Amino acid sequence: MRMVLTGGAGFLGSHLSDRMLADGHEVVVIDNLITGRAENINHLSSHPRFEFIEQDACDPYPIDGAVDCVLHLASPASPPDFRRIPFETLRAGSFATHRALEFARDKGARFLLASTSEIYGDPPPEHHPQTEDYWGNVNSIGERSVYDEAKRYAEAVTMAFHREYGVRTRMVRIFNTYGPRMRADDGRVVTNFISQALRGEALTLYGGGNQTRSFCFVSDLIEGIYKLLLSDEVMPVNIGNPGEFKVRELAEIVLEMTGSKSVLKDVPLPYIDDPRQRKPDITRARTILGWEPKVPLREGLVPTIAYMRGEVLAQR
Ligand code: UDP
Repeated sequence: MRMVLTGGAGFLGSHLSDRMLADGHEVVVIDNLITGRAENINHLSSHPRFEFIEQDACDPYPIDGAVDCVLHLASPASPPDFRRIPFETLRAGSFATHRALEFARDKGARFLLASTSEIYGDPPPEHHPQTEDYWGNVNSIGERSVYDEAKRYAEAVTMAFHREYGVRTRMVRIFNTYGPRMRADDGRVVTNFISQALRGEALTLYGGGNQTRSFCFVSDLIEGIYKLLLSDEVMPVNIGNPGEFKVRELAEIVLEMTGSKSVLKDVPLPYIDDPRQRKPDITRARTILGWEPKVPLREGLVPTIAYMRGEVLAQR
């Protein structure tokens, strides 16, 4: 099949590109490298079934010929990035999603939206863990809103294209994911803690560190997305690892695994709308896709720490 991936030079997009090429597909990546990186796909540049178009995913795609699948992954995805580039974040969820859907409709291609657990906002205890039919508790004007609301719009426009034009749409709600190729400076908790531990700096616990997250290793996530793409499921599907950890626990695991002497430091929460708990209910993925994650946190952290070590050394 011929696959078009917006955001294909990003953390997840580049791993998906690898996976699709390995399975014999043709891959066209569209990425303006605003948060993605050329080094994530440099190893593919001479691959005969790979093409890279450096441009904004909001602009028309210069792609002729048949296309089987369009995967819209392009978006800043770390909270410090939303703060730095709020309009690009809004446009990635809105205009770029519309563009990708129009392109998929015109080509008669299948479409997959990379949505997010941020759709659920800060869920109350009765909606923990989060199932796909929970509508969310999202702050429409907070600092995360440029991401959350753009992704909520993205889901809405995806359903509209499905209902109005019969586009074969798929939506994956991605929970916190980690692994090699994340930017050491992306500001997210896994990368911050590992790079702080490796540099001997204090690990920054925002707001006490009692909030929880569920961390999925990248290979598990890619497998889940791939299965969803090939399925007939139109409704959103959570893909994530239900293992739930307090941020403070993650810090302690990172210190132990890196052998670092760094200390933990409490710092104020930078965003008032930081969700207090997050954990996917993956019943739907298990039932419909026969998917579940295989890599526990400590196992996935081994290659992630090794990769970050290289990144931190390169920055010295
Ligand atoms: N966090 C933290 N220290 C950091 C970075 C993040 O305590 O240096 C916390 C953050 O407040 C959030 C959680 O870790 O509660 C996950 O943050 P991340 O930015 O990775 O992603 P989010 O799930 O919030 O989108």
